[in-house]
Amino acid sequence: MKNRVSLKWKIGRTLLLFGVLVIALLFLFQLILLEPMYENSKIKAVKEISESIADKIEDDELTSEYLSQAQMQSDTCIRVFQSDSYVMSEGDFRGCPMLKPDELNEMIANAAADEDGEYLSKTNTDLMPAGGEGFRNIFFTKLVEDDDDAVKAIVIVSAGIAAVNAATNALSNQLLYIGAIMVVLTLLLTLMLNRQIAVPLARINESAKHLPEGSYEIDPKTNGYREAQELNETLQQAAADIQKADKAKRDLIANVSHDLRTPLTMISGYGEMMIDLPEEKTDENIQVIIDESKRLNALVNDLLDLSRMQEKKITLQKEVFSLSDMISSEMRKYDVYRMQDGFTIEEEIEPGLTAEGDSSRLKQVFNNFMTNAIHYSGERKHIIVRVRKEQDGIRTEVQDFGEGIDEKDIANIWDRYYKVDKEHVRVSSGSGIGLSIAREILELHRARYGVNSVKGQGSTFWFILPLHKA
Ligand code: ADP
Repeated sequence: MKNRVSLKWKIGRTLLLFGVLVIALLFLFQLILLEPMYENSKIKAVKEISESIADKIEDDELTSEYLSQAQMQSDTCIRVFQSDSYVMSEGDFRGCPMLKPDELNEMIANAAADEDGEYLSKTNTDLMPAGGEGFRNIFFTKLVEDDDDAVKAIVIVSAGIAAVNAATNALSNQLLYIGAIMVVLTLLLTLMLNRQIAVPLARINESAKHLPEGSYEIDPKTNGYREAQELNETLQQAAADIQKADKAKRDLIANVSHDLRTPLTMISGYGEMMIDLPEEKTDENIQVIIDESKRLNALVNDLLDLSRMQEKKITLQKEVFSLSDMISSEMRKYDVYRMQDGFTIEEEIEPGLTAEGDSSRLKQVFNNFMTNAIHYSGERKHIIVRVRKEQDGIRTEVQDFGEGIDEKDIANIWDRYYKVDKEHVRVSSGSGIGLSIAREILELHRARYGVNSVKGQGSTFWFILPLHKA
């Protein structure tokens, strides 16, 4: 078997991975990308402003009001040099980084060397101590040219970049806390999910593992989700079914071996007796051996029939036939019980009733009802057979006035190998499978069937076949 990861570890691992991923993403955006993103936005701002001022200069519309407004709104510092004069908004040096002449000249020279007349530079020197440690400035120099490609004006826009170190330090501390909280939360969540999913599943699994050993006890409750509860119920049902099948199998072995042993003992006993005592070699004794062999044969045939039916390997040979005639002719088999054993067998058979079905299989059902009636009819030895037309079909019934069936057993007698009397009663099939074969046959015919019985007063076994309309 493959060494698979258990569900509880899988849940824990997945959650932990998720937590680590979230923290890594936060870390990436908050700590590593914060500074470049911030700087980029500033660079974009100074470029845009210098662009708009250059446009104004080209249209000869630049005023000092415009400059001071732009400076205030964008938190930048704007210097404009026009034909050697130095135009600047009011409040000139407020917040503006100082520039030494050689620095200024270098910026202009670099811009002049550029194809678009633009130059971006950064200073790390803290020209404005008020900005504090790590404060930097960016300068964007743009040359504005007139129609003759002569420099008309120089625009320098600068902006301060505050240090983000302090902010990122605070954030990294926060991220540590968040990480720790995430770990604790992950553990709690794992524990909770474990209780709800993994533990009930493991419990159900444990019970399932013990099923083959014959331990059918399954805890009816799980404290998990609906799916776990349903799985548990399914397993319980399966356990109950297996238990029932197991019991049926044991009953079958007990019954069948008992039923096989009795005729076999008789056959071997009579055979040995006839060898030892030649005068016992009589026709009657040979007949006993033949009868017992027939009984064995019938039992084996019944067993084969039942197993074939349960595997649905039997198909009905359906035909339209006279049910009245079929039952009447079957009744002749039982004349011998009238004559030899003192049975009163009444026949109330309506003539000319036609049904559709497998006549030889239905004969088997009827004969099973009859043999049971004979064997369980007790001292009264009174049986009534009825075939009559009813509203919904033809009803065939066999009534006896014998021992009857206890109410608690009625639901079970159609089950395989079920015998009311656990003390063996030896009858023709005698292993508690006659009625289960009858049930299979009747269900294949989609017939209604049943038994009405009162303990001590007798039973009526019946089935109803749909009336065949020509
Ligand atoms: P069996 O071969 O044991 O008769 P069946 O399947 O034919 O097997 O019947 C199952 C059980 O139903 C019988 O063992 C018997 O207890 C009960 N039973 C069947 N028919 C009758 C009846 N007419 N009267 C009383 N009990 C009956």
